[in-house]
Amino acid sequence: MAKDNFVEQIADIEKDFPQWYTDVVVKTKLVDYGPVKGTMVIRPYGYAIWENIQREMDKRFRAAGIENAYFPLLIPMSFMTKEAEHVEGFAPEVAVVTHAGGEKLAEPLVIRPTSETIIGSMYSKWIQSYRDLPVLMNQWANVMRWEKTTRPFLRTSEFLWQEGHTVHASEEEAMEMTLKMLGVYEEFAATCLAMPVLTGRKTEKEKFAGAVATFGMEAMMHDGKSLQAGTTHYLGQNFAKAFDIKFLDKDGVLKYGYTTSFGVSTRLIGAIIMTHGDARGLVLPPVVAPVQAVIVPIAAKKEGVLEACRALKERLAAAGVRAVLDDSENSPGWKFNEWEMKGVPVRIELGPRDLEAGKCLLARRDTHEKTECALAGAEESVKALLSDISHNMYARAKARMEERIVTASSLEELLSAVDKGNFVRAGWCGCRACEDRVKEFAQATARVLDKEHTQTTCVACGKKAESTVIFARAY
Ligand code: ZN
Repeated sequence: MAKDNFVEQIADIEKDFPQWYTDVVVKTKLVDYGPVKGTMVIRPYGYAIWENIQREMDKRFRAAGIENAYFPLLIPMSFMTKEAEHVEGFAPEVAVVTHAGGEKLAEPLVIRPTSETIIGSMYSKWIQSYRDLPVLMNQWANVMRWEKTTRPFLRTSEFLWQEGHTVHASEEEAMEMTLKMLGVYEEFAATCLAMPVLTGRKTEKEKFAGAVATFGMEAMMHDGKSLQAGTTHYLGQNFAKAFDIKFLDKDGVLKYGYTTSFGVSTRLIGAIIMTHGDARGLVLPPVVAPVQAVIVPIAAKKEGVLEACRALKERLAAAGVRAVLDDSENSPGWKFNEWEMKGVPVRIELGPRDLEAGKCLLARRDTHEKTECALAGAEESVKALLSDISHNMYARAKARMEERIVTASSLEELLSAVDKGNFVRAGWCGCRACEDRVKEFAQATARVLDKEHTQTTCVACGKKAESTVIFARAY
């Protein structure tokens, strides 16, 4: 078969990035479209990435003292209306169950778009004293938000996520938790997804409905657009007051708790694809890749080749490497292309000549470089290579992001910069009208407030800048 078959199936990444994305997610069998518009089926290859994300994230939650629990999918409509901003923010996208068991329900039920309300109602039952605090829980669940325009992983009506919900005795402690989890997400993105992010506070306009303050992590995609890859929220006493989460403090006074919430979702898979992918397809970060190494036998029918490949696979598995042996009937060239499209970090080629020399060939997906290694001890060579690939992918993505953050001091400059696929650092006076003006003029939004306030004048009105903002077009 022609060597370029697979590449021809995928749109040109530079010319038509949206089509490239669609081609890649479908052709590598990460997802398929569900029968209801806006829904996606996560196929085994995509779900395995999610399971690896869950496993790595759960380790970090355990280390932070967070326990997993599970709360119901259905939320009484009356709960949603208890926090005014919350209901206003979510009303346009909730799906509501009005009938069940052949009858109209006395109270409509909302399919959870997020669970602050139902979890808050349970916390009010469980928390009585300062001794019950802090409460640190997380749930892995599906949520539903009725979206008008959808794309697999990036925006679908139903998606999978984790949502952490904590209650604390003081504002300081709750804020500390909010920032600590932002740090956990940032470290996770770097270590497990090889994905650099910008973190920071969101503007009032961009914050979570019902939060006092929202913090986000933003990642730069291949086309220079930003993707919000995770958020943490300091909720103050807003939900505690709406759901009566009170505790008797040490001083004998009954007080409202301070709550937080934080989440990442299957969007992260979209972020991985669009951060690292190239003309040949997926490039998966080794820590979450379902298959870390694929063994392709060369001249598989020659004596001893398949046996050696099987033995190597066993040794890799024993060393903790997720390895597969492709012993299908397809030609080696066909296999190379297929596994490249699927983004497997390392390909191992093993044929009769290698066997004779006691060697095998390692091809890395990120740079396409090939190196030989001794067959004895190949496990260690593969593990070292996986680690190197992870670091290289991170460094490459970070260099690209840093290169493409530019400053602008006027709307025209800002527009021209985002047109070229940059993030833009610009001053902002803090008023909503100027934020809206940027959106209208350049179709760019405030992604996060920059940690360092370096700009002196507002990009939209020219008045004194209260903060420095990272603006970008966003998914
Ligand atoms: Zn202004």
